[in-house]
Amino acid sequence: MAKKELILLAINESSVTDLAEKALHAAGFDVAIVRDQSALDSSIQEAIPDLMIVGEKFAGRDWLTVAKEVLERFPTMPIILYANQDTTGFAKSALKAGLSGYLYPPLKMEDIVNEAQRCMMRARALGDWLRREVKRTTASLQEKAKISESERLKLEAIISNIQDGLILLDDNENILMVNQNIRETFRLENKPVTEKWIRDVIQNVDVHALLDRAKGGALKYHEIHFDDGRVFNAQYAPIPRIGNAVTMQDISYLKELDRLKSDFIHTVSHDLRSPLTAILGYMELIERTGPLNENQIDFLRRLQGSVQHITNLVNELLDLGRLEAGFDTRREPVQLENVLKYSLDVFDGQVKKKNIVLDTKIEKDLQPVRANPIRIRQMLDNLIGNAIKYTPADGKVSVKMAMEDSQVMVRIEDSGPGIPPEEQTRIFEKFYRATNRPESVEGSGLGLAIVKSIVDSHQGRVWVESKAGEGSTFVVLLPALEADGGQ
Ligand code: ADP
Repeated sequence: MAKKELILLAINESSVTDLAEKALHAAGFDVAIVRDQSALDSSIQEAIPDLMIVGEKFAGRDWLTVAKEVLERFPTMPIILYANQDTTGFAKSALKAGLSGYLYPPLKMEDIVNEAQRCMMRARALGDWLRREVKRTTASLQEKAKISESERLKLEAIISNIQDGLILLDDNENILMVNQNIRETFRLENKPVTEKWIRDVIQNVDVHALLDRAKGGALKYHEIHFDDGRVFNAQYAPIPRIGNAVTMQDISYLKELDRLKSDFIHTVSHDLRSPLTAILGYMELIERTGPLNENQIDFLRRLQGSVQHITNLVNELLDLGRLEAGFDTRREPVQLENVLKYSLDVFDGQVKKKNIVLDTKIEKDLQPVRANPIRIRQMLDNLIGNAIKYTPADGKVSVKMAMEDSQVMVRIEDSGPGIPPEEQTRIFEKFYRATNRPESVEGSGLGLAIVKSIVDSHQGRVWVESKAGEGSTFVVLLPALEADGGQ
């Protein structure tokens, strides 16, 4: 047997309550009658009515307060107001309060039943519609969840199979995920790595150095070397709301190409040196063989200038070759500020000529580094020389030296043209000259490659911080002698 619908009567006037009860019973409804507020609360608690009829006054409270409380808990419950007299004011405020029906004297049984049935039918229709909507929305949410799950799987498959290595980290350097390439590169096999500290999982010193540099906000490119000769280029990039990503590409074959190219350049430079020395020698002899006219002297000077230029280039190339081959093994304690003095002396003339303000700031307790003083001098000469060369007249150059943890930091800052961000790693390559350099400034594009080789051979790091048009700062970090173990 179908369950009967329950109607709750909360009306003060017992004559009205009796009449309504009789009529509704007869029409096949269950009826519950309450006479005070606590009975109303417990009745609703026990069984939620399908409809409620509230009197204009009920248990000392007005209908609006009672109805509001019930609707707050059951917003879709149909409520009919029984008013002692019919006024448009009542009807209006019942509608505003969200009530479904309105009864007033003279009351007939038939009116009560009709109003109750009408209100319940509307509530049923509303309930059906609500259920349908909920079902539809749930189905669409499920569909969306299905799509996002399949998107996630797709993304995971792509990340897993790309040829570059990828490590995702949270802000505390714990691993969120690594792809297959990283597992193979670091021979992690199937070890569980998620949520572990990357420095525990991957013990490569270059990876640790990259993380340290990234923390300090320094440039995010870094070479990762392996004992078996493989070399990777790693980048570190923050990912908003996730953490950070480290990507790695195998550049071993590029390094090999670079080595072959260097070998070739070295051989050619070597073979060029003897004929160049001969040319310079014979040019000097020409002057001694007899008097030359003005034109001949002028041509000879030009020839000497050009041959000297080629000789310098060849010497720089040979020097670079020696550095790259690792022949530079001389090491002794070097106090950088002492070497700096000699360097600055050399540039004194140029500084004055261009009216450049040269400022030096050396920290008092600068520790020595274990280095080859000749190479350190060459490194400073190249960096300071560039700063002065590229800074226009009346500009500023400053050299700072300070301790940075267990390293000595050299910062050479200038007010020159700066270097575009996309070229900042390239300027350390052989022969690379930035596109925004002033045309009139001469150079071979080898100075910074020599600087990089010197810094690398001293286990240091060099990079540039610059914005085009806002000057450049070249930074060199060299391990201090103490940190080095003093050997
Ligand atoms: P070069 O002989 O051309 O000066 P380097 O290897 O010393 O060669 O420098 C490479 C390039 O880097 C330069 O050609 C120039 O474009 C850029 N560069 C180096 N130092 C500076 C600087 N202080 N300011 C602006 N650009 C610089």
